[in-house]
Amino acid sequence: MSFKNIACCRLCGSKKIKNFVDFGKISLGNNLQTKYPNALKANKYSLSVNNCLICNHFQLSISVSPKILYKTNYTYLTGISNSFKDHFASYVLWIEKNTKLNPLKSAILDIGSNDGTCLSFFKRRGFRVLGVDPAKLPSQIANKKNIKTINNFFSSNVTNSIIKTYGQFDLITSHNVLAHIDDIHNTFKNAFKSLKLGGFFCFEIGYFLKVVQKNLFDTIYHEHLDYHHANPLSKFLKKIGFSIINISTNSIQGGSLRILCKKEIKPYLSTQASNFLKNEKKTVLYDKKYLKLWQNKIQSNMIKFGQLFKSYSKKDYIKIGYGSPTKIVLLTKLANLKGNDIEYIIEDNKLKIGRFLPMTGIKISNFTNEKFNKPLVVCVFAWNFFEEIVSNIKNKIPPDSVILCPLPKIKIYKI
Ligand SMILES: [Zn+2]
Repeated sequence: MSFKNIACCRLCGSKKIKNFVDFGKISLGNNLQTKYPNALKANKYSLSVNNCLICNHFQLSISVSPKILYKTNYTYLTGISNSFKDHFASYVLWIEKNTKLNPLKSAILDIGSNDGTCLSFFKRRGFRVLGVDPAKLPSQIANKKNIKTINNFFSSNVTNSIIKTYGQFDLITSHNVLAHIDDIHNTFKNAFKSLKLGGFFCFEIGYFLKVVQKNLFDTIYHEHLDYHHANPLSKFLKKIGFSIINISTNSIQGGSLRILCKKEIKPYLSTQASNFLKNEKKTVLYDKKYLKLWQNKIQSNMIKFGQLFKSYSKKDYIKIGYGSPTKIVLLTKLANLKGNDIEYIIEDNKLKIGRFLPMTGIKISNFTNEKFNKPLVVCVFAWNFFEEIVSNIKNKIPPDSVILCPLPKIKIYKI
């Protein structure tokens, strides 16, 4: 089976779920192809989000087999982005301050550790570190950097063998990973089991409130099975047995939720966490009218963006993209941008260069220092790094070039 339908809420188990948005069928954004014809005929899967009427959790209506999603052509590397590096550097200090863990006496496990970028910051502070990640290439890169990484899913069997070899941990961490996991119940139970009593579990996930408030629809893609906010999650964590110590938000990945939990004999909810939950219930995530109009609003914004990009004529401009994140597939679909609208896409991630985007077949290239014979129109698909990209390329492209940002608001940067 290449996918399965998800009929129950992944967090509370209720069957009372109803559709929130439906984008039709699209290809897997990470499934970059080495040949152009394969890109055009890449498999498509339904992309729609359901909402649980009992706990208000949001989740995809299907789950594509992880073997298809992650084992082939997976090219995402955390270490590419400077913003991530800065984020992790301050994250480590935040952890030390809020957990009072002694780096020299503490062991950390990172679930979905990717290329070991986060763990390398912990290691530098003196922590003993271990990563686990199902993606082959990033795990190899981490191991080469001496960040010990187990290349596997964080299953019950793998958890048992980790505990047997390394013992229990003082801290388990995870960044932008938990929304990718189908069996979230077992993953959280495995995290609980892997912790010492008094140990901490801190995770960051995309915050769906920010997505809905700022119209960041392109974080909706097949790899993200869940679209989290704190209220449904806190009930779920309580069921597993965790105390919730702190809930906060930050701006990484367009807006993330950070939850710090603890394994204790008597689980509790801190006053800070309780206040956060109360305030969240007053937001648009609980405003039925706002939610109902959301898909129409984002669709009309993207049509406007597509028209803006197309308004620059091919005669006068070289029209290219910058960045090929997974979300690009939905963004190009809603903006109605086709293969012949964009000449190629510039990418900093070497693993993606030379490949073709599924559906549109647009080629991915590296940034050449060729002398462009006319100005460029650059559509920044990796829009969450817009400022970083503008400062990197503004001196390397011809005068009169234009750099466009599709989200959260349409921006035009003129050279
Ligand atoms: Zn639910």
